[in-house]
Amino acid sequence: MEKQAVQRAREAFLAGRPRPLEFRVQQLKSLQRMITDRQGEIATALKQDINRSQYDTPLFELIGLENEISLAVSKLAQWAAPRPVERNLLTISDQAYIQPEPLGVVLIIGAWNYPWALTLQPLVGAIAAGNAAVVKPSELSEYSASLLKALLPRYLDQELYPVVCGGVSETQELLRQRFDHVFYTGNSTVGKLVMEAAARHLTPVTLELGGKSPCYIDKDVDLRVACRRITWGKFVNCGQTCIAPDYILCEPSIQNRVVEGIRQTLLFYGPDPKSSPDYSRIINQRHFNRLMTLLEGYTATVGGQSDSSQRYIAPTVVKDVPPQARLMQEEIFGPLLPIVTVSDIDDAIHFINEREKPLALYVFSSNKKVIRRMLAETTSGGVTVNDVIMHYTLNSLPFGGVGQSGTGRYHGKHTFDQFSHHRACLVKSLGMEDVNMVRYPPQNQWNRKV
Ligand code: NAD
Repeated sequence: MEKQAVQRAREAFLAGRPRPLEFRVQQLKSLQRMITDRQGEIATALKQDINRSQYDTPLFELIGLENEISLAVSKLAQWAAPRPVERNLLTISDQAYIQPEPLGVVLIIGAWNYPWALTLQPLVGAIAAGNAAVVKPSELSEYSASLLKALLPRYLDQELYPVVCGGVSETQELLRQRFDHVFYTGNSTVGKLVMEAAARHLTPVTLELGGKSPCYIDKDVDLRVACRRITWGKFVNCGQTCIAPDYILCEPSIQNRVVEGIRQTLLFYGPDPKSSPDYSRIINQRHFNRLMTLLEGYTATVGGQSDSSQRYIAPTVVKDVPPQARLMQEEIFGPLLPIVTVSDIDDAIHFINEREKPLALYVFSSNKKVIRRMLAETTSGGVTVNDVIMHYTLNSLPFGGVGQSGTGRYHGKHTFDQFSHHRACLVKSLGMEDVNMVRYPPQNQWNRKV
């Protein structure tokens, strides 16, 4: 089944079907139509998968996708055009340019936390760049996965863009096939397996992974604004966001005010987040148990309540968390927010640099020197100063990790580039042969003339 889908996609690609720009634009517009027509069904599937609120579905899943499509449609001719490059003396009368061209058949493996954005945003770039693409949604967001499988063939070319559903064994079977690029979003353990499988065919990969994204709060800051923004970004989708702030670093003197700021902000879920239509649930029992184990042995300063039958965990803050605590060893990916105190900015920078390079980094400060130092002396896939998550929304910025948080980048033109081969083209004239004679043997004929 998986093998056949890949084979059919390959045949359709080799027949040249996805190459014409008009075809790519038509497919992209059709994808846009799918989102507009089916917004209600998509929201219902997300409600069933993760109790996503009706308001957050367009905000976090669909608006960004629609922006990506309209950008690709309006810029495609420009992106796909040959780009002339500088020439040297030997090529002065020739044509030298870079020609973006499709890679072939690509595989897109999505994660469950934003199942539409994380599969369809890469697909937009894959289509724009003229590829065939096999789409593998996560089995954990099962309602979204089966809706995607039902909808996509009604709007897009069925042979060029098949959806393959299933779990580990189906993904492994897909990974045994030869692709021209694999684009994977998910955890780093599986990321390594994906890279290993791709290496067998020398297939390049994009790995959009996760990790612990730090959030440093300086004492010189408007804490009310900082806490409101952090609370929103941490607890949306129940903390299951790859670039959610994973933990807070701050000096002990402001820790209690940070806790109070978060507690006050959390009232936006009402007195009981469990009954708020805006508060999501943990994706499955395994992740619920994992998060509850992480919390064992701590007293929550805020929240801490849970209900296994609903996979509900309240927005939870734990203060004075020691750096060696379990909560600080792995990506949390849930609504638990540890606060680790540091003595000053040097200590914070040291703390961040001692650990794996994060996917995102956040710094809140009114002090330009603090901001400058944080940017200059740390690294991360992306960074937002004085807010969280927002760098993701700007499609002129490349989105991706560095080191353990991933490799490759996408969004906007970056996705088009990721799914293109940038072919070096030199078209020489057959003239000027006198000048070219210099490179032909025998060498000594030139020595004699000089
Ligand atoms: P997941 O369990 O849905 O796995 C992702 C995909 O990998 C699925 O399609 C699944 O079928 C496949 N898969 C799972 N096990 C496999 C195996 N053994 N072999 C082959 N394929 C396998 O998602 P997840 O990993 O739980 O996602 C959460 C992680 O993803 C977090 O670490 C998060 O930070 C990261 N993430 C990163 C981004 C990003 O853009 N960088 C976005 C979202 C999530």
